[in-house]
Amino acid sequence: MKILVINCGSSSLKYQLINMENEELMAKGLVERIGIEGSRVKHETIGKEKKVIEGKLNDHGEALKIVLDSLVDEEYGAIASLDEIGAVGHRVVHGGEDFAESVIIDDKVMDAINRNIDLAPLHNPPNIIGIEACKKILPNVKQVAVFDTAFHQTMPALNYIYALPYEEYENHKIRRYGFHGTSHKYITDRAASMLGKSVDEVNLITCHLGNGSSITAVKGGKSYDTSMGLTPLEGLPMGTRTGNMDPAIVGFIMDKDGLSIEEVNNLINKQSGVLGISGVSSDFRDIEEAAEKGNERAQLALDIFENSVRKFIGSYLTEFDSLDEVDGIVFTAGLGENSKSTRANIINGLSAFGVKIDDEANDMRGEEKIVSAEDSTIRVFVIPTNEELMIARDTLELVK
Ligand code: ADP
Repeated sequence: MKILVINCGSSSLKYQLINMENEELMAKGLVERIGIEGSRVKHETIGKEKKVIEGKLNDHGEALKIVLDSLVDEEYGAIASLDEIGAVGHRVVHGGEDFAESVIIDDKVMDAINRNIDLAPLHNPPNIIGIEACKKILPNVKQVAVFDTAFHQTMPALNYIYALPYEEYENHKIRRYGFHGTSHKYITDRAASMLGKSVDEVNLITCHLGNGSSITAVKGGKSYDTSMGLTPLEGLPMGTRTGNMDPAIVGFIMDKDGLSIEEVNNLINKQSGVLGISGVSSDFRDIEEAAEKGNERAQLALDIFENSVRKFIGSYLTEFDSLDEVDGIVFTAGLGENSKSTRANIINGLSAFGVKIDDEANDMRGEEKIVSAEDSTIRVFVIPTNEELMIARDTLELVK
């Protein structure tokens, strides 16, 4: 079966067509600037020349139409007819407490995703628009929702209840949900397979370090604790997000700078993190380059980021009974897969736990590999993530 995977952002739509007979990628692409001047589709059928299509796209429905046209195009397409698409898998950011697993989308599911808009006002609405557009254009094809939060629904209350009055949880469902679940789950499955263990036997600390970053303690193959919270703002400092800080700072800044809730939310989500500290960029490559040229604030941003990762790993090690129980520390996503210096700096700072990197093994990008030294107490893995494949696998499982 061929499965189309869709990931809708507020003005973007990413897609992949995957042949599930061999899990091979057939085509992929990205639609940018939907509803904005200068819309553009970048389409690639594997083995054929890339195609860029420009022209105003007013909404996600129009974007999806061009994507489907591209997939069946005689010259640069991947399939002969849309009938070849067996199912569509959608990435949905927030499933709240309603979804601990992926589901086939029906009216009840749509109601629940709509109910959770409150918890993810920036993310769930475009996901819903993407699903509605697919339902209209492909009415006979089954649609599946795969939630970023689902993997973390196994966390115990010990790790998801905030120290607020309990009524805040009861009345408004304020709790830790966690994100990047599809990625943490994918690398957990891969690490288990590399270790020759069944998934429910593996204990890991998985580090998804990209533009957005989160760390998860995985116990027996399940999420036990994770660094992101009610929203994807908590935990590590990120490209533009603060991560953890004293919650009193929000009110303080609003008062001092005369900011509204919307303005302060914008400041802590879009102007902070390593961008805010360095003043250079939100992109780690730019920051590494600036630091190498002697920019002290860029270096400080990197140091703060790496130190935060170390402190999370250190604190998550306390969730296990002994170091022997921990099968691995896993790095993934843009930074985790590609930046050997980030990986080395993080691991070198964990010497108190006896974790050691092998510099030669670590001297690579984007490979699935063990990069720890022979005598390291805990193995260190690099595993390139593949959220789209995970979504396609869940989709196939549900529709077959
Ligand atoms: P997202 O999917 O959250 O947008 P990614 O997982 O693609 O993000 O990660 C993007 C981040 O990874 C960027 O900050 C980018 O600079 C960083 N990155 C990618 N390649 C490298 C590299 N070779 N060295 C350092 N950082 C890298």
